[in-house]
Amino acid sequence: MKNLFILLLASLTLLSNAQNRCGTEAHTLELIEKYPEYAIAKAKVNYQTEKWIQNHPTNSQKTIITIPVVVHVVWNTNSENISDAQIFSQIEVLNNDFRRTNVDVINTPSVWQGIAADSEIEFCLAQTDQNGIATTGIDRVQTTQTSFGMSGDPVMSVASEGADPWDQDYYLNIWVCDLGSGLLGYASQPSSWPNPSDGVVIGYKYFGNTGTAQSPYHKGRTATHEIGHWLNLEHLWGWGSCGNDQVSDTPKQETENYSCPGFPAISSCDDPLTTPIEDNAPNGDMFMNYMDYTNDACMNLFTAGQKTRMISAINQYRSNLIYNTCSNPTTNIIDISITNKKLVKIVDVLGRTISDKTTNTPLFYIYNNGTVEKKIIIE
Ligand SMILES: [Zn+2]
Repeated sequence: MKNLFILLLASLTLLSNAQNRCGTEAHTLELIEKYPEYAIAKAKVNYQTEKWIQNHPTNSQKTIITIPVVVHVVWNTNSENISDAQIFSQIEVLNNDFRRTNVDVINTPSVWQGIAADSEIEFCLAQTDQNGIATTGIDRVQTTQTSFGMSGDPVMSVASEGADPWDQDYYLNIWVCDLGSGLLGYASQPSSWPNPSDGVVIGYKYFGNTGTAQSPYHKGRTATHEIGHWLNLEHLWGWGSCGNDQVSDTPKQETENYSCPGFPAISSCDDPLTTPIEDNAPNGDMFMNYMDYTNDACMNLFTAGQKTRMISAINQYRSNLIYNTCSNPTTNIIDISITNKKLVKIVDVLGRTISDKTTNTPLFYIYNNGTVEKKIIIE
């Protein structure tokens, strides 16, 4: 019986490791090794961020920051050449997740509802390219490469049969391709050093919430997570077991969570020399945070502390994005950006306020601009 249990545990571990949720740490370490200038710049980031936050105590956003995106679809097989609709679905997910207008806000445990943040960051497909010419913000490149690894960023260059980036000071470059080896995605973390491989790479099976998107990573949260890194967020467990994510309102947690744990999922960062035991009871890990490794359907928040760190990163290292814009009246793009609105409350069909996890039930989301949306969380 015991042997059977061990066997079961081993096969479960194999299952969970078959897909590699995020390559950003490994990518950052590779860049640090390759570019000494980056190692120096990256070492200063946390200090510079703390300083910026201290100098901007109110941290008040005057306007919503809208980041122009170019999506480079680098495809070998027809299925890798994902549809425009799949790309639009990803932009919509990003806007909902970063503005906290995602349908599953209701699944955030009540103890963390108060710190769950509207990041006041939006995304739009670029409407002008770097030469000022009208564009869809979608760049399709056919390749003979059957997959791209992470090392050396081959997908980011025409020379290695990928696609060259657009000016990284003014665009968020997202490459969508077959990353091979079960890797879902990776991103570059910001610093004062101009990074030639700046951007985000997402596997074509984990992009958007339609088309080739595959369960359980089929709700567009791989890009939400990786863009979190691109805006300077760390994993909740920092750089190693029980590490520091440099954000004060996320609980300390031992390591990553997979699948979708029940709440609370308590983990321990116990110092054997102290008593009592130091675990993170009663609330446990914030496994539903976008910067954990759980299934897409399990994730639903960034915190206020994470928002501050992202806004700081844009102001310090990506400030040209603040002044770039997507609006171009001469183009004919479907407007999928959402308006500036805040969620007031969620009610059921009988008008009762709902604040608990609810699935497969129609609910009405009431916003402060007077609009109401009917939504159903399907898991
Ligand atoms: Zn990550």
